[in-house]
Amino acid sequence: MTGMGEVKLNDLYQEVILDHNRRPRNFRKPEGATHYSHGRNPLCGDDYHLYLKVDGSGKIESVGFEGSGCAISKSSASMMTSFIEGKPVKDAEALKNQFLRFLTRDPVSEDTRAAVGRLKIFEGVRQFPVRVKCATLIWHALEDALADAGRKKGQVSTEGEGK
Ligand code: ZN
Repeated sequence: MTGMGEVKLNDLYQEVILDHNRRPRNFRKPEGATHYSHGRNPLCGDDYHLYLKVDGSGKIESVGFEGSGCAISKSSASMMTSFIEGKPVKDAEALKNQFLRFLTRDPVSEDTRAAVGRLKIFEGVRQFPVRVKCATLIWHALEDALADAGRKKGQVSTEGEGK
């Protein structure tokens, strides 16, 4: 267990986050990836490579990530990949927008709260700006990877993201 000490999350939520941290889903590089981004959060040391394979109809056929970082960044990545796999790119983008809004806007609208579903477990990090960067890192990488389909080497950093 690393880096969770200062975050007082509800026990149940913390358990979900720790489970994803211990056994991250889609922790691999998928074959034939069409989209890629490298996400870094220098403030914490989170560093991930995100790969997507998008088919001709705009569906995310497979998604995976590699790298290392704290429990919050890794569990966020694990949950993100399990939510978007098999979904159309536009649904993944909509969820990404709602999740970023959920963690960075104040107050959070009921629509946004409903849209993020189980990702609500990250609500506790809202009060820790450094942790917000951990939780949003992989979503910024998703945004970057999808932003330019032609470019395979993206790089994104949450270092300058403010609340
Ligand atoms: Zn982190």
